[in-house]
Amino acid sequence: MKSIFLRATLVAGLAVAGSLLVAVTVVPLLGGRVDGNAWLMLILCPLLTALPTSAYTFWQGDRLKLAHRELARTHAQLAAAHRRLAEKASRDDMTGMLNRENFFAMLDSSRRKTDRGALLIIDADHFKKINDSFGHLTGDAALLEIAAAISRGVRSGDVLGRIGGEEFGAFLVGATEAEASVVAERIRREVEKVCFQPASAPIPLTVSIGGTICELGATVSELMRAADRRLYEAKNRGRNLAIVTELLSAA
Ligand code: GH3
Ligand code: MG
Ligand code: MG
Repeated sequence: MKSIFLRATLVAGLAVAGSLLVAVTVVPLLGGRVDGNAWLMLILCPLLTALPTSAYTFWQGDRLKLAHRELARTHAQLAAAHRRLAEKASRDDMTGMLNRENFFAMLDSSRRKTDRGALLIIDADHFKKINDSFGHLTGDAALLEIAAAISRGVRSGDVLGRIGGEEFGAFLVGATEAEASVVAERIRREVEKVCFQPASAPIPLTVSIGGTICELGATVSELMRAADRRLYEAKNRGRNLAIVTELLSAA
C-alpha cells in the first residue's frame, strides 16, 4: 500500500511538473500569461486527477501481478499432480513395476527408435499351488518377494513390468545375448535365494525365464512370441531355468 502511494505521488508530482512546464513555456509562446488562481489550478488539477487514478492503476497492476503469480503456482501444482497421476496410472499397484500396457508401450517405442536390448519374460513356477496351499494373501506376499528379487537381478536402467498375474517382463537396455543370459540367470538365482517363510515352514520360490535379443526390425509381437517359446521350453525342461537366445534361433 505504501509503495502504491509513493508511486502514485511520484506520478502526480510529474503531472504537476509537466503542467507547470507548459505554463511557463507554451503559454507565454502563445502570448498568454499565467497569474493568480491559475497557478493554483495548474497544481491542483493534475494533482487531484493523477494521484487517485495512478494509485488505482498501480493497485490494479499489483493485484494482477499477484493473481498471475498465484495462477502460475497453481499451474505448477496441477502439472506436478498430473505427472504424479500419470506415473501412478502407468504402474502396477502391487509391485510398482510398469503395468502391462505401459511396459508394451515402452517396448514398442524402443522398437521405433530401433533400440538394441533383450526381452525377458519371467514367470513364477507352480504359483497356483502356493495360492491353493497357503491362501491368496500368502500368494500376494510371495509375488512381492519375487518382484523384489527380479528388481535386484536386473541392471540399473533396465525396465521392468508386470505383464500378467505372476508374469513379469524385463527389457534389458542394450544387452547382448551373453549379457542377457547373465542377467536372466542372476534373476533366477535371486528368486531361488529368497527365504520365504510366512508360517512355520519355508515355501520355495522359483521362476522360469524365456528371453530373446531385440533384433533390428523385429516387432514387439515377434519378440514376445520368441521369448514366450523359450519360457515354454524352460517350463518343459523342469522349471527354475533361464533360456535366452537370438531371435532367429528362437523361431
Ligand atoms: P507354471 O509353473 O506352469 O507357471 O504354473 P502356475 O501355477 O504358476 O501357472 P498357472 O497359470 O496355472 O497359475 C497362475 C496362478 O497365479 C493362478 C493365479 O491365481 C495366480 N495369480 C495370478 N495373479 C495373482 C496375484 O496377484 N496374487 C495371487 N496371490 N495369485 C495370483
Ligand atoms: Mg506361473
Ligand atoms: Mg503365467
